[in-house]
Amino acid sequence: MRLSRAFLPTLKETPAEAQIVSHRLMLRAGMVRQTSAGIYAWLPLGLRVLRKVSDIVRQEQDLAGAQEILMPTIQAAELWKESGRYDGYGKEMLRIIDRHDREMLYGPTNEEMVTDIFKTYAKSYRDLPRNLYHIQWKFRDEIRPRFGVMRGREFLMKDAYSFDLDADGARESYRRMFRAYLRTFARMGLKAIPMQADTGPIGGNLSHEFIILAETGESVVYLHKDLLEFDVLAQDPSGTGEASAVMDFWTSRYAATDEKHDEAAWDAIPAESQITARGIEVGHIFYFGTKYSKPMGLTVAGPDGATVVPEMGSYGIGVSRLLGAIIEASHDEEGIIWPDAVAPFACAILNLKPGDAAADALCEQIYAALPNEAVLDDRGERAGAKFADADLIGYPWQAIIGPRGAAKGIVELKRRATGERLELPLDEAIARIK
Ligand code: ATP
Ligand code: MG
Ligand code: MG
Ligand code: MG
Repeated sequence: MRLSRAFLPTLKETPAEAQIVSHRLMLRAGMVRQTSAGIYAWLPLGLRVLRKVSDIVRQEQDLAGAQEILMPTIQAAELWKESGRYDGYGKEMLRIIDRHDREMLYGPTNEEMVTDIFKTYAKSYRDLPRNLYHIQWKFRDEIRPRFGVMRGREFLMKDAYSFDLDADGARESYRRMFRAYLRTFARMGLKAIPMQADTGPIGGNLSHEFIILAETGESVVYLHKDLLEFDVLAQDPSGTGEASAVMDFWTSRYAATDEKHDEAAWDAIPAESQITARGIEVGHIFYFGTKYSKPMGLTVAGPDGATVVPEMGSYGIGVSRLLGAIIEASHDEEGIIWPDAVAPFACAILNLKPGDAAADALCEQIYAALPNEAVLDDRGERAGAKFADADLIGYPWQAIIGPRGAAKGIVELKRRATGERLELPLDEAIARIK
């Protein structure tokens, strides 16, 4: 993308309404635009990151054996009456009446709908286990939408739903998602710690929240120091036995949110290993048995012909919230520092002298060598303004091209995260960025 033609509106001033750094930076970098309280339009830069985050989530769900579907945002109230949640869900649910006076709602989650879909097709134990997920917009009429996309009213969630024949199967499905979640967040450069958590309106009794530590987090969390030192990606993503080993490790060390905090267990941990911090909930997994399958009449014939009510779990990731969480975890005074895996573009090419034949030519060569992964700053701005924008947006690499280097075919590369600078011939520079 050439900046001279791009819609990448950066702001120099800090927007007054933004209280936390990720919100400020998302507004300043021109990623999102609030259109109503807690409702955002995604501008080109924000949308690219949202897609990259979604892609990682999708790859790890697929790898864990879940299958993608896409359910609608609007649901019939009837389904929620069947499960018994319609009245209890309260004011967070946006309720809608259609022209025929039918009660509808904008889905805050999809347990009911997916159970209803699945029960149409599942007839026998051979149809189990299954795990279905989608990445879809949700609406929750949060009493206090704030912190930008971190607590929006409309937000993008990945939600998966598992169906198993029995409790053992359901626990295995849970462990697979547990492992997939660790990998998903690690691939985005985040340290997300699974913590024992309350189940809230979803229900059930086995539940973990995945939490990243950040000063601006809304909940207080307690954890054992060991959990911060474990290399998640060193593990095999597919072995079955390993899903259970992975979960055993993580649950062998103390980690709990406020609501589940157990003073006695905490006091048993040596003081030097205790970490009390604030955290951001980026994912939440639940095993709730037959809470929805039973009232909604989902049954299958078991191996011996007897009727079985499948055991279910659900697994959410706050896809749009993750953008805020990643920025909270990775920024400095100048702006965002995108981890490579989710960066909107890998590289900004800063032409310090548009019009200089050698500089223009070298910029075009780099641009062509990085299809769809480079932004070419060909604007007639001062060099200082170009540096500031590139630092603010946080491309992992900057290729800085001036007439002198260009005459020798040399590219100056700057790594955003470390400030390290390298002078390399074109081919080597491209190889570095790729
Ligand atoms: P919170 O405690 O932050 O209100 P929750 O526990 O109500 O979240 P879940 O029902 O567990 O949320 O939904 C799954 C995931 O969806 C959460 O872990 C979070 O990452 C994300 N999420 C929930 N509410 C919001 C929101 N208002 N804005 C953005 N993401 C959200
Ligand atoms: Mg909530
Ligand atoms: Mg919560
Ligand atoms: Mg939750």
